[in-house]
Amino acid sequence: MAERGVLHVALAYPASLAAPLAGLVVLAASWPATLRAGAVLALVLAGLGAWTLIEYLLHRWMLHGVDPFRAWHLAHHADACAPIRVPVVFSALLVLGLVGVPALLFGRGGIAVPLSAGLLLGNVLQEAVHYRLHDTRPVGRWLEDKRRLHGFHHFHDERRGYGTLTDFWDRCFGTLPPRP
Ligand SMILES: [Zn+2]
Ligand SMILES: [Zn+2]
Repeated sequence: MAERGVLHVALAYPASLAAPLAGLVVLAASWPATLRAGAVLALVLAGLGAWTLIEYLLHRWMLHGVDPFRAWHLAHHADACAPIRVPVVFSALLVLGLVGVPALLFGRGGIAVPLSAGLLLGNVLQEAVHYRLHDTRPVGRWLEDKRRLHGFHHFHDERRGYGTLTDFWDRCFGTLPPRP
């Protein structure tokens, strides 16, 4: 029972940003001094781009396919007006993966650190944008377009419109909602 309780601890935005922000602090502390600014910028942008694919894959196959993540996500689908809460265990595993996998692949210093920073920035941005898509305040054109896609995913067909930050991967994988 206690185990179930720990698994179900979830934080509402912006407290849910604690894990990725803690990850960014750890990365900042181990920032490689040898990389040039241009290389750092390119790696952060590459991480940000890679995040949009990870976000798509996680949403499509994990949040809509694997329990208990599926059950947690479907609770958000069932009550789109309730505050969005992110399970701490999900955030923690995600941050460990976003920092750990590049470190394993590319070594602890060097290019892994800015790459992971881009991935974590993508995670922070995704949570912030998702939060804005669910409130009713008017948003700019870019966010309005994303709100339309996300609304389609929530209320019309949950097998389309998985992307939050971009519809690029929905286009690539054939899951783009139809134009109104
Ligand atoms: Zn949503
Ligand atoms: Zn969904």
